[in-house]
Amino acid sequence: MTPGPHHRAEDNEPLGGVHIKYLCHCPRQLWLYMRGYRPEARSDRVAFGEVVADDSFTRRREVDLDEARIDWVSAGAVVHETKSSRAPSADHAAQVRHYCLLLERRGIAVRAGVVHYPLIRRTTDVAWDDDARAEAEATEAEARTVIAAATPPERLTRGRCRGCSYLDYCWGD
Ligand code: SF4
Repeated sequence: MTPGPHHRAEDNEPLGGVHIKYLCHCPRQLWLYMRGYRPEARSDRVAFGEVVADDSFTRRREVDLDEARIDWVSAGAVVHETKSSRAPSADHAAQVRHYCLLLERRGIAVRAGVVHYPLIRRTTDVAWDDDARAEAEATEAEARTVIAAATPPERLTRGRCRGCSYLDYCWGD
């Protein structure tokens, strides 16, 4: 599919976890995604991640916010996100902070977040306080700036594109 110029979200349309994930990975990926270019269905990596999430926490219920689906929220309210990665990442924390922001805007008194890495049996805590809220708002604003751009952001260096499902569009692979 060739990305077109008229597929981006309206300025006030809520942004979900996928938008923040793509922004953190590569602003160009977010820009392309918002123009309707979505090769994720062909990506084994995404499918595997879904399997890990499904198998690891079968008793948990997803929380569907329309624009985002949170893996689960425990008493408190603590936001939980499961990742198939073997390496904890600041990008995962950014996604959880965004979920905290979305819940808070719905009137939930969010306490914190946790990222779960079942493949390495680890968790990382994500703070939710004034600094974290400011960071989440700045990330959201950055995503909106990228989405509104008339032209796609520059590609990352080739080495950093390894494993990206948009390789064929960006590099003709
Ligand atoms: S292939 Fe590289 S430049 Fe293109 S979206 Fe993916 S990470 Fe970004």
